[in-house]
Amino acid sequence: MKGSNFLVVLAQTITVVFDKTGTLTKWVFWVTKVVPQGSILPNEVLRWATYTEYRSNHPIAQSILEASHQESLLEPDACEEVTGFGVIATIQGKHVVVGNDRMLHREKIPCDQCEVEGTVVHVAVNGSCLRYLLISDELKEDAPMAIQGLRAEGVQRIGMFTGDREAVVRALAKKLDFYAADLLSEEKVEQLEHVLQESDGPVAFVGDGLNDAPVIARADVGIGMGPWARMRLLRVRMWWS
Ligand code: ADP
Ligand code: MG
Repeated sequence: MKGSNFLVVLAQTITVVFDKTGTLTKWVFWVTKVVPQGSILPNEVLRWATYTEYRSNHPIAQSILEASHQESLLEPDACEEVTGFGVIATIQGKHVVVGNDRMLHREKIPCDQCEVEGTVVHVAVNGSCLRYLLISDELKEDAPMAIQGLRAEGVQRIGMFTGDREAVVRALAKKLDFYAADLLSEEKVEQLEHVLQESDGPVAFVGDGLNDAPVIARADVGIGMGPWARMRLLRVRMWWS
């Protein structure tokens, strides 16, 4: 589709898929709990997480920076953001890993407290886990209204894709027709291929454009809503293919 055609396609859309984090849920999170390992102080866990997330734009990173109230922030000497996993950094010669269960498994870091309920960010320094931060991730107040509005406009199927864990999103997904969790960016594209095949009409994908650009680009109508957008304004920026 090119040019002004996308408006016609948007009007005919019968399937809408949302990205979760920052799109269906609030863009602004906060750290609700810091759980340290043994005698480690909570502040130490938070401090390493803050230094590591220093350059990340992910909303999780923003919430950690907010929570830390650090006067003097240490910039990492090197850092790598691994989409859907977290961040790996070198800080003062230490190898720091901050991210989800998947990240700990990827980096082969032993952890005796995986599968914690909620959106969890583990912090590990030089291969040992200092434990984790718990992050709030709540549905936007106007999300149910937007979903209702879409149904009233003739959208038949509404779903959600997320890189977050199945256990965290199960309750949230109850109002939706389908969902898929634990997805990496390329797996979101694979899931969308199935949805495109099954849908009898155009499929729209709504994301934040942060790490879901490939799936936004693959949909018949791709909609990117940044933190500046309100849920009911589903037209901030559009890509079409
Ligand atoms: P969604 O698919 O719901 O939009 P994302 O793909 O943005 O979620 O992230 C998926 C998961 O990857 C998050 O729930 C988190 O566990 C982890 N993650 C991603 N980026 C970061 C980061 N900067 N710091 C810590 N964890 C992260
Ligand atoms: Mg996202």
